[in-house]
Parts: sequence; structure tokens; C-alpha cells
Amino acid sequence: MLEYMYFVCSREVARPTITACKTHCWFSVNCKFFFLFSFIVNGENSFHKPQRALHAERYAKILENPEIMEKIKKTCIWCLKTESEVTFIKKAHTIPKSLGGQNYNKHVCDDCNKYFGETTKFNGYSIEEALKETFCLSRQRFLNDKKTKRQIGEFKSKFFDVKDRNGRKRIVIKQSFKFQQSFQTELCRNFKRGLVKMWFEEYDRQTKHSECLDSKYTYIRNFARYNQYDIPILYFERSVGMFVLFEREAETPILMFGRMNYLIENEKFIEIEFLGHVFGIPKIACSKTEFDDYANESIKMKSQFFKQAILIDKITDIDFMLSVINK
Ligand SMILES: [Zn+2]
Repeated sequence: MLEYMYFVCSREVARPTITACKTHCWFSVNCKFFFLFSFIVNGENSFHKPQRALHAERYAKILENPEIMEKIKKTCIWCLKTESEVTFIKKAHTIPKSLGGQNYNKHVCDDCNKYFGETTKFNGYSIEEALKETFCLSRQRFLNDKKTKRQIGEFKSKFFDVKDRNGRKRIVIKQSFKFQQSFQTELCRNFKRGLVKMWFEEYDRQTKHSECLDSKYTYIRNFARYNQYDIPILYFERSVGMFVLFEREAETPILMFGRMNYLIENEKFIEIEFLGHVFGIPKIACSKTEFDDYANESIKMKSQFFKQAILIDKITDIDFMLSVINK
């Protein structure tokens, strides 16, 4: 039986693991923005001219259908612009590369990618740095247990110094930032925007792209990408210093959805666990009562491992040093 499938890619050739018979069935249409490739799934040599013509006809139909074409065309999940307006050349890492992130999202345009990585004159750091310079504290903490200083290098953070008091580590804001009045608030806000960015890009990468283009996500787009209003994010404070991490996860952190059964995900809220920290994020706009109800329900569900849900207000609300390990 003959089956066929097509791959859509832009500026790079899709390399599926199935065998492609180039002599008989390799078919490509260079259509300004993308290429379509057809491959035979079964039966390498059975694809002769008549079938080839039939496939060509089917492709022509695809190309003529504006609805399908619109879906196939790359659209940026942040600015919703398509390939005819923006480029998608650079790799947009979902988790900052400097934090060990290895995955990237193909649906983030170069402009938006640049936006998140660009140092602003006002703050002196980028959204990605707000994520990296905070989470690197936890990453280092996990790595310290396993590796020598020589392997992972000296601890460095742009914003914090680590003080050691009787074996207990705590973070202090560096002198140079200490006296900037808005530093704490701004860093906290940009950290939250980075967190939403990381989640949304991974969510798009791991689930359905078309869903992420939905207008309901304007709520988080406006916050993370366009720096509008504030959104409430919860931090779940652990009562037990127990973490489930994959081997090498501290080196190359990942965001895996539903990894623990205490993580809630519904139409309005999503909870993520990243480098040992659990956060609750509203995916779409919600009322205060809805948010409070969710927060109460969630902490009740997690009471075995977590003591409280904190509405993040300042960066030090988050236990980046994972001091719960010492208890
Ligand atoms: Zn964009």
C-alpha cells in the first residue's frame, strides 16, 4: 500500500527517518517561503509516473488553498507576523543558552528573539538575563553537589553575591544595584516576563502551534513581549527539600509539562517546575476571585511537599539558593 506524507520546512531540509526514494518520488515545490517534500513511507519502487502526476495534482490543490497555506506559513507566536513580514533565521532558545538550554522555537521571529535578548538602556540587562542570572543560582546549587569547582567554574551572578553563614547560603543584591530604588521591582517584573516567555515558547514547541496563535494569549503576549500591565504569578515554597531531577538536568535544564502529578493545568492556569522551583501562571486573563480560588485549591493539593503559595512581589520571594535543602 502506498502512503505519502509531506513535510513543510523553511530554509532547511526536513530530514525524517523514513526512506526517501529520490528517483521516483522526490517531489519538491519551491514556493517563495517554503518547500514541500514528499516521501514514500512504504514501497520504494512502486511509485511510478501516474502516481507522481496524481501527487503533483494534490500538491497543486494544497498550494491553491489559501486556508491551508495560511496554516503552513510560519507565524511568530509573539507578534503574530508571518514570513512575508519578518524573518526566522536566528535560533530562538526557549531556555537561555547561557543557562544550558538546548531547545529552540522555530516560531519566534528574529525581531522578537532579539527583543528578549537585548540589554535595555533603562535596566542594563535583558529579559533573558533576568532569567539566567537568577536561575543560575539554583543550577549552581545542584551542580555543586555533583561537580568540582574546576568543572563548573566559579560562581558568578550579575546581580547577586552569595554569603555563607554557618554553612547556610543566602543571596544579597550587589552594591552597585542596591541603591537603585526600582531595581528589585524591575528585576522581579522582568524575571516574571522571562518565565512567561520560557513557558509559552516551550508550550508552543511541545504542543500544538496553531493553538498558541489564538487571541486568548494576547494576555501573556502583551505582558511578556510588550511590557504592558502586570500578571500575578505564584511561587510554591517547599517544605521538604526533595527534588526529582533527571540526570544532567541541572547542566541542561528542561521544561517538562505535567512531570509531577501535583502540577495543575487547566484552561486558565498552568504550573511549571523548573530547576526545582514550582510556579503557577495564569495563561489567560482571569478575575481576582478566580485566581484566589485556584491558589487555594492548588496549595491544598500540594500540602504534602509545599508549605505556602507566595504571590511573587520581589525577587527574593523565590528561594533561588534552595535553602530548603539544608533543613
Ligand atoms: Zn515576532
